[in-house]
Amino acid sequence: MPYEKISLRTLNKMKEQIAERIYKKISPLQVQAWVTKEPVPYDDRESGSPLRLQPGDKWGELWDCAWFHFEGRIPEGSRSQNLVLLIDVNGELCIFDKNGIPVQGLTNVNSEFDYSLGKPGKRVVDLQNILTDGETIDFWADAGCNDLFGHFRSGTLKEADIAICNEEIKSLYYDVEVLLELAEELETQSVRKARVLQALYDASLLLVEWDDSAIAEARKLLKKELDKKNGDSELTISAVGHAHIDLAWLWPIRETIRKGARTFSTALRNMEKYPDYIFGASQPQLYQWIKQAYPELYKQIKARIEEGRWEVQGAMWVEPDSNISGGEALVRQVLYGKQFFKEEFDQEMKVLWVPDIFGYTASLPQILQKSGVEYVMTQKLSWSTYNDHPHHTFLWEGIDGSKVLTHLPPEDTYNSPAAPRSIVKIEKEYKDKNISDRALMLFGIGDGGGGPGEEHLERLRREKNLLGLSPVVQEHAIHFFEKLNQQRDKYKTWRGELYLEKHQGTLTTQARNKKYNRQIETALREFEFSSSLLSVYEEIDYPKTDIDTVWKEVLLYQFHDILPGSSITRVYEESIVRYEKLLEQVRTRIHQNYETLAKTIGRPGLYLFNSLPWERREWIKREGQWRNILIPAMGYTIVDEKTNVDRQEDQELVAKEQLLENGLLSVTFSNDGTLKSIYDKENKRECLIGSANVLKIYHDTGDAWDFPTNYHETKAMQPSLKKTQTLKEGPYVMVVNHYSYGSSTIKQTIRLTSGSRLIEFKTSVDWRENEKMLRTSFPVNVHSETVNCEIQYGYIKRPTHRNTQWDFAKDEIVAHHWIDMSEPNYGVALLNDSKYGHRVHNNILDLNLLRSPSYPDPVADQAGHEFTYCLYPHAGDLVQAEVYKKGYEINIPTQSIELKGTDDSLPGRISRSFIELNAQTVMIETIKQAEDGKGLIVRLYETAGTHATVELALDMELESVLETDLMEQIIGSVDHFGGRLALNFSPFEIKTLKIKTRTHG
Ligand SMILES: [Zn+2]
Repeated sequence: MPYEKISLRTLNKMKEQIAERIYKKISPLQVQAWVTKEPVPYDDRESGSPLRLQPGDKWGELWDCAWFHFEGRIPEGSRSQNLVLLIDVNGELCIFDKNGIPVQGLTNVNSEFDYSLGKPGKRVVDLQNILTDGETIDFWADAGCNDLFGHFRSGTLKEADIAICNEEIKSLYYDVEVLLELAEELETQSVRKARVLQALYDASLLLVEWDDSAIAEARKLLKKELDKKNGDSELTISAVGHAHIDLAWLWPIRETIRKGARTFSTALRNMEKYPDYIFGASQPQLYQWIKQAYPELYKQIKARIEEGRWEVQGAMWVEPDSNISGGEALVRQVLYGKQFFKEEFDQEMKVLWVPDIFGYTASLPQILQKSGVEYVMTQKLSWSTYNDHPHHTFLWEGIDGSKVLTHLPPEDTYNSPAAPRSIVKIEKEYKDKNISDRALMLFGIGDGGGGPGEEHLERLRREKNLLGLSPVVQEHAIHFFEKLNQQRDKYKTWRGELYLEKHQGTLTTQARNKKYNRQIETALREFEFSSSLLSVYEEIDYPKTDIDTVWKEVLLYQFHDILPGSSITRVYEESIVRYEKLLEQVRTRIHQNYETLAKTIGRPGLYLFNSLPWERREWIKREGQWRNILIPAMGYTIVDEKTNVDRQEDQELVAKEQLLENGLLSVTFSNDGTLKSIYDKENKRECLIGSANVLKIYHDTGDAWDFPTNYHETKAMQPSLKKTQTLKEGPYVMVVNHYSYGSSTIKQTIRLTSGSRLIEFKTSVDWRENEKMLRTSFPVNVHSETVNCEIQYGYIKRPTHRNTQWDFAKDEIVAHHWIDMSEPNYGVALLNDSKYGHRVHNNILDLNLLRSPSYPDPVADQAGHEFTYCLYPHAGDLVQAEVYKKGYEINIPTQSIELKGTDDSLPGRISRSFIELNAQTVMIETIKQAEDGKGLIVRLYETAGTHATVELALDMELESVLETDLMEQIIGSVDHFGGRLALNFSPFEIKTLKIKTRTHG
């Protein structure tokens, strides 16, 4: 007789029948909700308007908050049973105990999620988790009328019941689920598959009446299969519980704090039930919020961290964008991140935890290596559109040659269901399995938080060593990396940036946020520099707490959905208000600092301060006369009436219709306002090979992340020139163009300055377009295979051709202050004061100015904008032309202070450089007080990618000069004599000095 044919469909049906029998509702709970617009603390839980609710009743709109009060009476006959509550308010919920401490998070079952990874809902509450005397139930819970992804799901009460949970049936369900999926994943011919299917079939024959003995019998049958183990294993999977929590995204920051409480309390409860469970969470900012808002919950977390059940992850303050954040900001992310974990939990963080960022700057390996961070964990590269990154485990080498061991979980997700299919996917996809016997799995519900549920942990309980699947061990990610590192020598190296072939729109979207970020970064640099001067020369206390506070808020807004522009409207409304406040505060403090310095110098006059480490010139109008003033490096000069009468105005300055000219350049315009020609008079060379500064408007039907990649093949629209004026004012000649397009207007002042090679495009846009992208482009008369793009602490070269799919994929590229195309003896740079998205194909330099996609912020970039970009034609290549200096100069203005008074006989020096550097290619990025308060930190880096020996001269009495890493740990000492010291740089090297001075006035 042949065997019965076993149908997977029938077995799946059996699984569903088992699921239906796990819970039996026995009594509804009484539900009341106090609804408010914003969250209120537990003590104020009755401050909203109360509503009595039955299932189906509506309690709120999107972003409404409510304190729910649940009451019930346990039916007498069922008090000895295994009771649970089933609660779903079609939103997110956090149950609190009577002391106002979060106990457990719940999520509506119809929450948005990638359902192929499992169901996001959490609706079951164990009775021991809530307040009950065994007869009555009475507790409170804090609700948000949004799902995990910030979406509205009807705002109604779905269910609130007391139910009996049949533990045996529940266990049977997971037995069947794991075995059935194992069988589905195994090869058709596999013996194991046949045996598992047979066992499942045999079990199904028993499940007719569903009596206890049949269930026990079925479990016994399946246990035989679940107990079968592997022999020697080739691959061990390290699993760590995870809940990716975006600090803001499709929800405002305020909701993230509550998401943290829900997710973390759930993790704590699950730890009580599952002794093997290891959960991890990153981002000190999130821990800080929990510490402030839920101190008791924080204590519980701390205890689990000490016990080793909870892993603190990541080395940065938040998981930041790494394309746009400045170099020093990335250093501070690590500095404040590591400090927090050290102070709070006494842990040295060694793993950069960035599962979800939109590209990885080639500066990071050096920053990490010099911060004691040895490993990188991410998975986002798997989202690339065109090319597969060739490794999951590799050494990532940065622009300076530093290497960090990097792992991409081969399952390509940080939301693993931890199911047999996950393990099989890891085995199949792991690109380095020929040499590596370890892979990481991050399991749980994420993006909007939530974390692992019972299903993940029940599966893992059965998958520790299950014949047919690689064994899985729950352990800390750091322990995984330490094991991975044992084979370090065998891994391949990937050199340069980890470019994500997706989300390039995020280099431009939400332009105002990006501009404020640039401005606050440079303002903080100036604030730290000027405060350092005061502490050294005037013994005025360095405002460390104030500076730290501003930095941490700025670092928060560099989170990978805020700075890239991919959050909802409210996130930007809130961050813009804060940026404006922070900028005002910091600028006021800078002004006060320089004013204090000027007063102690004492001579009356106009003081010009320069925080850049090279001398620079500035045009100043005094008493009706334009004067060109030289300001020393990292110092000041006083413009009084007797001194500093420098260069006179340029006799060659011309401003005529459609023509601007100075002694160096001659710029002619076409009728539509575009540039027809830029003739370099000094080098006798035309810089353009076509119309330049053509403002183009493209249809952009993408979202905040992505624009259509073929936009440049579509027909572009041009704003029409309404009015043009030509002006001459002192050392400046200008063409002012007024354009309009739809309801938008653009005013552009194109300016040439006497003695300068920069052509400035000072732009004001009132942008009222939806789903449009505004760009400008410059076809330059320069031939080069590569374009130089400034990134943090250096620059990288990218191809200007599209030979291969890898070149083609890098169409929109990130750069900071500038991009530059150079031949060996001539080049043109395009600089900016707040832009990041560029495109260079052949010899066209193209800059993305504004985008206004409809999602997730329907009014993105529809506002007033002010920005400047500059074209810099130069002799020599980018290094000889010192392009980086121009980039800093247009972003870091000189600061002026007018000191009134008449006594100019005071001894203060008329000009002075506090710190000088005799180097063409080395930049002083930062001067700040050391974290321990004992001395100054001076951070320099080599900008050109070459070896360099430099001399640093400090106008201070030096006691000692030490070299430190980026975390200010001492790594050596530096000889100094008379305030001078010599430093050797390797290409793109970042060097940090800790300088102690004998404080003097
Ligand atoms: Zn994210």
